[in-house]
Amino acid sequence: ARKQGGGGIAYYDPNHAQQLQRARLVEREMQSAVKDGSKQFWVAYQPQVHTKDGSPAGAEALLRWTHPELGTISPGEFIEIAEANGIIVQLGRWILNQACRDACAWPEDVTVSVNVSPTQLLRGGVVKDVREALAASGLPPHRLELELTESSFLTATEDLLSQLEALKALGVSLALDDFGTGYSSLGYIASFPVDKIKVDQTFMRGLPQSSRDQSVIFAAQVLGEGLGMEVLCEGVETEDQYQLVRSIGCHKIQGYLFGKPQTAAEIRSWFVEKGS
Ligand code: C2E
Ligand code: CA
Ligand code: CA
Ligand code: CA
Repeated sequence: ARKQGGGGIAYYDPNHAQQLQRARLVEREMQSAVKDGSKQFWVAYQPQVHTKDGSPAGAEALLRWTHPELGTISPGEFIEIAEANGIIVQLGRWILNQACRDACAWPEDVTVSVNVSPTQLLRGGVVKDVREALAASGLPPHRLELELTESSFLTATEDLLSQLEALKALGVSLALDDFGTGYSSLGYIASFPVDKIKVDQTFMRGLPQSSRDQSVIFAAQVLGEGLGMEVLCEGVETEDQYQLVRSIGCHKIQGYLFGKPQTAAEIRSWFVEKGS
């Protein structure tokens, strides 16, 4: 089968058609799930620990969607769609409020990290959403961290910088997520008021053997130290990876070795169990 293409030849790809159909279904279901008061959505929390002794440092809030018929829909699938159609603005506001409320039940010296997508920053309103979530929950601002990806910085405008500064003024901290996978220059990073670098998990996969991956993590550590930023390594799964990251001097770790994403009740007991 042949379809009309812009001068070229385009072949009908049944696989592609299926993907499109699935994306449309997910989009439709997402719209009604959000209208339904977000009952199908819930928040999973993944532990973050101090590298030096493995003690609790905080947890990252990760969006989960359990659909009554379709079952679990992974964030890898639905976040992209939610960003494209703008629903991420509502979902982002929802998870922000939920995470701040849940974190109030945690020890006072741990933080909660919430992902903020480029779409949310582009559309504005994040500063207001954060201020309201903090006020409604009573969570001290220094216990909230927002994770931003490098792609947010690519569309950098005056407006973005002023939003980041307004967030800093509220007292929350900012982390650069998925470090090493984007395209922004190092000089760029230095010009944003970021408190932490999260080294992407792709660089853990080759550890401890790969000297290439070791070099990237080492470079991130040097950069972070030089700029006064904390360095967290994501995706640490094995004891060997842990020891290596520790020897490089990275401050914090998040990965299956210390805990998978879990329910609010589970993370609460994890904090209790690990607490002194
Ligand atoms: P991310 O922000 O990089 O989150 C870390 C992802 O890595 C999570 O996948 C987590 O489960 C996974 N992970 C953590 N440790 C390990 C490990 O040791 N090994 C392996 N193999 N994986 C590990 P998840 O929950 O599927 O989320 C995928 C992505 O979806 C997130 O990547 C983030 O970009 C996005 N996402 C999730 N929740 C939200 C949200 O509330 N808002 C926005 N904007 N994006 C979100
Ligand atoms: Ca993240
Ligand atoms: Ca990440
Ligand atoms: Ca990622």
